[in-house]
Amino acid sequence: MTTQTSRLPQSRRRSYSSSGTKPEQSFSRNRRPNNGTGFGSGRFGGHKRSHNNFRNNRNRARSGGGRKQPTFDPSQFINKNPIETKEEVYVPKHRFTDFGLHPRIVEAVTGQGISSPSPIQDQVIPLINDGKDVVGLAETGSGKTAAFLLPLIKKTLTNKNQVTLILTPTRELALQAEAEFRKFSVGFKLYATSCVGGTSIRPQIRALKRINHFIIGTPGRILDLINRGDLRTERINNVVLDEADRMLDMGFIHDMRKILENVTKNRQTLFFSATMTAEAERMVNDFMRSPVTVSVKKKDVTDSITQDVVPYEHVHKFDTLLALLSKEEMRRVIIFGSMKHSVEKLSNELCRSGIKAESIHGNKSHGQRQRSLNAFKSGNARVLVATDVAARGIHVDNVSHVINYDLPNTFEDYVHRIGRTGRGVHKGQALTFVPKR
Ligand code: AMP
Repeated sequence: MTTQTSRLPQSRRRSYSSSGTKPEQSFSRNRRPNNGTGFGSGRFGGHKRSHNNFRNNRNRARSGGGRKQPTFDPSQFINKNPIETKEEVYVPKHRFTDFGLHPRIVEAVTGQGISSPSPIQDQVIPLINDGKDVVGLAETGSGKTAAFLLPLIKKTLTNKNQVTLILTPTRELALQAEAEFRKFSVGFKLYATSCVGGTSIRPQIRALKRINHFIIGTPGRILDLINRGDLRTERINNVVLDEADRMLDMGFIHDMRKILENVTKNRQTLFFSATMTAEAERMVNDFMRSPVTVSVKKKDVTDSITQDVVPYEHVHKFDTLLALLSKEEMRRVIIFGSMKHSVEKLSNELCRSGIKAESIHGNKSHGQRQRSLNAFKSGNARVLVATDVAARGIHVDNVSHVINYDLPNTFEDYVHRIGRTGRGVHKGQALTFVPKR
């Protein structure tokens, strides 16, 4: 299931191979035949093909005037029998007790129901323990946060002068990394603070005056704090770039480079990314020292998610949703809408219909979004209605269903959306509303 591959120029890399399997050259989505649902003979094709079809169809719909709804082949949203057996079961070479972690850390991990290391953890933790720079090609949901936090917490317990800077693309991801840190470091006198944009900088400046072993933040705010002299980089000796490809996508390249230029070269640098673009590779070459690259095969979201469509008539769309939500199995549901205002409206309508719903979208402040997310995470709200942008990077365990109430704009958005369910070892279901023909 996993391979280690070195995508860096030979001179800069040290390859690492435990499986001896052929290096993975590219990521591909699974190819699975349509399952006879009456929505044409389309296949859940290779990623590029599906994606392009989706876009082209959308463009056609646009140029045709009328309602700007993407047209599509609904078979793309159907996979009633995800076939787990297609994927080899990964057999980890280590147990959590093999990593030299403090017994209380191991307890904290297993206490969360995590019994054995995920592939990225299994392969990356020993390398980080050895002090190596590591490029981890793994996506969200692979357990990569624990893969870097556990060995870094161990390192910090050995030498409390260690300071780790973790850069994440979004505020939500930063807060989630901080929350995971807190779970793993209970009872140790280790301190962390988050410095994210979109919230007041004052409390962050105050927090930075205290001892911090882990500083977690978004590149813009972190650079701001460095430039103001509030974040002193000379004490930082570990840097983690989490979801680096997304940070680059979001235009943080200059901030990331400036931050890395500011931190001592005598550091350990860990770079996590789902994909390795040319820009990402340049960063690795410029800022890492003989990195070891570990790639875990992309977990195909469709392997753990049952996907189906929900045909609806326009006038009955909301009632169709209510009928779905009345099912007992709909324990924790994320509903995607296309517009900020329609997301807010839908959430209000659900509340009026007696369903505890919260919403997150760009018209809400960071604090409001966090409150909604917390209500959803704690189970106070069974439903979270979200836009694509607001939902990026949010991690909520045990989401039973994702409902695409409005169609996503692109196939990538679809994959991001449905990836909110079926995380870790859990199964999930994705339902996409499609107008009846
Ligand atoms: P990530 O976003 O990649 O850090 O993945 C986080 C999700 O993976 C959370 O739902 C964790 O509870 C889950 N997770 C982390 N490590 C493991 C593991 N070894 N086995 C199963 N699930 C895990």
